[in-house]
Amino acid sequence: MPHLITTLGPKSAGDLGAILPHEHVFVDLRTWDQPGYGEADPADVVTLMAPEIERVRAAGITAIIEPSAIGVGRRADILLEVSRATDFPLVVPTGVYREPWLPPWVHAANEVDLRDWMVDELTIQIEETGVQAGWIKVGATDDGLTDAEAKVLRAAAGAASETGATIGSHTVRGHVARAQLGLIESVGAPADCFVWIHSHQEPDIAIHHELARRGAWIEYDGIGEPGSDDHFIDLIQRGLDVGLGERLLLGMDRGWYDPAQPGGGTPPKPFTYLSERFLPRLADSGVGDATIDMLMRHNPFTAFAR
Ligand SMILES: [Zn+2]
Repeated sequence: MPHLITTLGPKSAGDLGAILPHEHVFVDLRTWDQPGYGEADPADVVTLMAPEIERVRAAGITAIIEPSAIGVGRRADILLEVSRATDFPLVVPTGVYREPWLPPWVHAANEVDLRDWMVDELTIQIEETGVQAGWIKVGATDDGLTDAEAKVLRAAAGAASETGATIGSHTVRGHVARAQLGLIESVGAPADCFVWIHSHQEPDIAIHHELARRGAWIEYDGIGEPGSDDHFIDLIQRGLDVGLGERLLLGMDRGWYDPAQPGGGTPPKPFTYLSERFLPRLADSGVGDATIDMLMRHNPFTAFAR
């Protein structure tokens, strides 16, 4: 039976309801060489983010996939503290973000080293925290993979083949996502282990549908950007119209505690917009309850469970 691997242990579909596939609790967008990078008092993160978790739970969300990988201040120990304080499961990634956020050890490592590191985090734990990684987050430079990003993606595809884990990539252009999917399939990993994060940033919807037909997940995760509701409703409707609703993921890419800001930056952007504001509008546009349940519960679980 498939399970989502969370900070609070493996969860089956029956344990969970609606899931947000891309929201951040803790992110540092400075690079690894900056003073104070990735550092915070876990209690301060709990103070800022626990109320946001409580609000989103009250709005019906039962788990969040947290996409902050190595390079943007991943802190599995802090996410675990937030989860324990709220009794709310988060899904923490292994993997590495894109250039120029790659730390020197990633440049120095070879593909096999990186794959073995990812497999260890996916099957044992992250950095002695007791938290098992739930998925693999990677990234691509806007116009195409750099050599180092391609090495990370090949390692991720190897780790995905070995563990059944899902790879999600920050990728803003369709031709880059197409090349990534080709690379993943070329090493024998299935297309449905690939989540194209930020698909909506590619203006050519034909590429969204092309990759979805091949089996990849198309993540529209900019919901909540001012004035964008109609655009996202249109994107979702067009996916549903061509029978690709079972490949769509919806998110906001919101949050978070930022160690570069005093107090983590306040206020964080709430995680409730999608449930409380957007879904009623989507329903008003004619999308029925069963489809919304598929988009919010079935799809994210299926995409990230193994
Ligand atoms: Zn993000």
